[in-house]
Amino acid sequence: MNKEILSKLIKIVGSANAIINKIDMAKYLTEWRGVYKGRAGIILKPRTSKEVSKILKVAYETNTPVITQGGNTGLVGGQISFDSNHIVLSLTRLNKVRYINNLDRSITVESGLTLMELQNYCIQNSTFFPLSLASEGTCTIGGNIATNAGGVGVLYYGNTRDLVLGLEVVTPSGKIIDNLKTLIKDNTGYSLKDIFIGSEGTLGVITAATLKTFPLPKEKYTIILKIDSPKKSIETLRFIQENISTPLTAFELMNQLSIQFVTKNIPNTLSPFSDFKWAVLAEFSSLEANNDEIEKIQNILNKLIKLGLVEDGVISSSLSQSKEMWKLRESISESQKAEGGSIKNDISVPIKFIDEFIKKGSSITKKIIPNARCVIFGHIGDGNIHFNISQPTKVKKEDFLKNEKNLRKKIVELTMNLDGSFSAEHGVGVTRKAELKKYKKDELNIMKSIKKSIDDKNILNPGKIIDY
Ligand SMILES: Cc1cc2nc3c(=O)[nH]c(=O)nc-3n(C[C@H](O)[C@H](O)[C@H](O)COP(=O)(O)OP(=O)(O)OC[C@H]3O[C@@H](n4cnc5c(N)ncnc54)[C@H](O)[C@@H]3O)c2cc1C
Repeated sequence: MNKEILSKLIKIVGSANAIINKIDMAKYLTEWRGVYKGRAGIILKPRTSKEVSKILKVAYETNTPVITQGGNTGLVGGQISFDSNHIVLSLTRLNKVRYINNLDRSITVESGLTLMELQNYCIQNSTFFPLSLASEGTCTIGGNIATNAGGVGVLYYGNTRDLVLGLEVVTPSGKIIDNLKTLIKDNTGYSLKDIFIGSEGTLGVITAATLKTFPLPKEKYTIILKIDSPKKSIETLRFIQENISTPLTAFELMNQLSIQFVTKNIPNTLSPFSDFKWAVLAEFSSLEANNDEIEKIQNILNKLIKLGLVEDGVISSSLSQSKEMWKLRESISESQKAEGGSIKNDISVPIKFIDEFIKKGSSITKKIIPNARCVIFGHIGDGNIHFNISQPTKVKKEDFLKNEKNLRKKIVELTMNLDGSFSAEHGVGVTRKAELKKYKKDELNIMKSIKKSIDDKNILNPGKIIDY
């Protein structure tokens, strides 16, 4: 990178917050699984929105691309810089809580705050922020907004998009747009915040957000159910939703293999049942703390067993047992690492087609890779399935991964034939660009014109989502 540009940039954040040596840069240039390894000219760690604005002004004047990064937990390569002339803008120091207002049920925070810090801050202030992902200790609220993250609470509280009231965004030319409103109703033309949500760092740098908060549940009740098929799990979901007033706030399906991988590879985990095909982890959140809730849940469990929808079930009797149950679900991705190569699909289909997708997807997989091990789990109540394939035990990783392109193509074809989405949660980044081009031609043209009108010099995250 040109020395003059470097020195202008370093001056803005101070040399302690600018990284140019290769060893220190490495952690910002490698993604979580090591799938993408990048390059950059400099990593900058601004502390304020004004510093972000100054950096973008220099970038704009000098045509220097900027890759915004939060916690670097993204799974589609969006946060990785692939060019030694590019700037990585790491926002982890921009992490203050600006204000909280329980009457408005809102909180305004800077974008580099981690999701877990945000959740904890809300609890300390007797309120609740419901977004929850397995990466919450590291991912940032800015990254969550930029990817419109999902997670386990979507069933009841919605995606990140549904939780955002207003944003502060720095445009590619360095202008700070302050739209940190707490309004529920604001029909004043196009919803600009919605254009930035899910834009994966390609349209603006989100520096702060005003978010919705919710009443803090007094109790959470976790149950784990033994179920014969995904179809029965959906019927179980609907039966619960129609027959109990306590909010059902999570409903996660896991196949037997996903739990076997966890109990084999993650210490201090135990399978809930000795023999089963599928398990559902469900959570109820209640604003009241009394024993009636447990009784209600026990009653519904008895009814489900009587109806033949559920074979067996365990209700957590303590916080530690509930944590153990959640650990099974949250450790699946981690446990899969120990089983060698994997081909991951983050798809969604209309709920009515989940059973068909799983049956057909498994059969397609076995035809292409005999003995492939299908790790199937996900937020079944949103139609979002992580359909991940681990390599067969007696096949070399390289040979297994040779099938990736063909298998992914077939799984995406199946998904699209069932009216689904080829990226339910993780975004497009660089990983899903080809599918976007193939399946969303008309939308892509509109996306390109939006990108051109906001980022005329293509300096924000070029080459991610779209090329132009
Ligand atoms: C173990 C694990 C579990 C996960 N589970 C889920 C899950 O359940 N649901 C889900 O949706 N995702 C999940 N993810 C993916 C990931 O955690 C989310 O996409 C998360 O929202 C990314 O946040 P981040 O701060 O790490 O962003 P990064 O990875 O740093 O960036 C992601 C994208 O957002 C852009 N970006 C980041 N910050 C900003 C900003 N302030 N302004 C503008 N653009 C920005 C980047 O340029 C990039 O394109 C998981 C990841 C892991 C590793």
